[in-house]
Amino acid sequence: MKFKNKVVVVTGASRGIGQAICVAFAKEGATVVGVARSDLAETGAAVDAAGGKFIANNADLGTGTQKESADVIAQILAKAGQIDVLVNNAGIIRRAPAKDFSEADWNAVIATNLNSPFFLMQAVGKWWIENGRTKAPENSRLKLVNIASLLSFQGGITVPAYAASKHAIAGVTKALSNEWAKERINVNAIAPGYIATENTKALREDAGRNKAILDRIPEGRWGAAEDIAGGCVFLASGDSDYLNGAVLNIDGGWLGR
Ligand code: NDP
Repeated sequence: MKFKNKVVVVTGASRGIGQAICVAFAKEGATVVGVARSDLAETGAAVDAAGGKFIANNADLGTGTQKESADVIAQILAKAGQIDVLVNNAGIIRRAPAKDFSEADWNAVIATNLNSPFFLMQAVGKWWIENGRTKAPENSRLKLVNIASLLSFQGGITVPAYAASKHAIAGVTKALSNEWAKERINVNAIAPGYIATENTKALREDAGRNKAILDRIPEGRWGAAEDIAGGCVFLASGDSDYLNGAVLNIDGGWLGR
């Protein structure tokens, strides 16, 4: 019960990796605040069943403005009273050849995958430094975890905006960690490999891409959302207090190959 009396905010909590992360924190006794546009009842039921408490906070993180993110954090603080962990997991992918890639798709991906996570961290970090830290138990820390990607290191195929956003979020992770380690804030990231979720449905349905991907993964299987959750709990726990600016690859061995 490492997260009893802790409030863990998970964006993109309605399905996939975010939902599995919510359940993993619930097993450790957390109060989990789930953020997404669509209904969060399924995640809420899974959190309850795992022994946690769930607070739904429907919000659209798709414009990526500073105000949108600040409003979301203010709503959550009003409901939950504190934030101990923020997991920036919400993300989208748009696929098209670079020569045809639309401005709308480019802006949507950058807003959701880069601008919004930065401004959410800015709002939580500001609250912690100016107010939250003094009320938190002595020596406790704020933990910020960004869900990056293999495409924080590689270019991918026909996903230029996604690759740009995921490279950038790895950079932001390091930049904030340099500035905030002294504030008792840990900022780290996870780079998931190929995980079987809605995000990768198109790849799994393309027999050629599916085989090429599987052939390259040393573990020989697509990852499950649950494979990411354990690393996320580690990065949010006291076991990683001296870890800053790291990008933890959980990829079945893909990047080492
Ligand atoms: P899914 O598509 O299954 O889930 C995405 C989640 O993000 C949903 O809960 C969705 O909720 C939420 N979301 C999307 N847009 C918005 C928005 N505008 N406002 C609020 N919430 C939003 O994706 P995954 O679970 O696969 O991906 C989760 C994260 O992991 C993403 O950042 C992704 O880039 C990353 N990742 C995934 C990999 C994979 O192989 N699956 C590999 C590497 C990284 P809703 O639609 O209800 O708003």
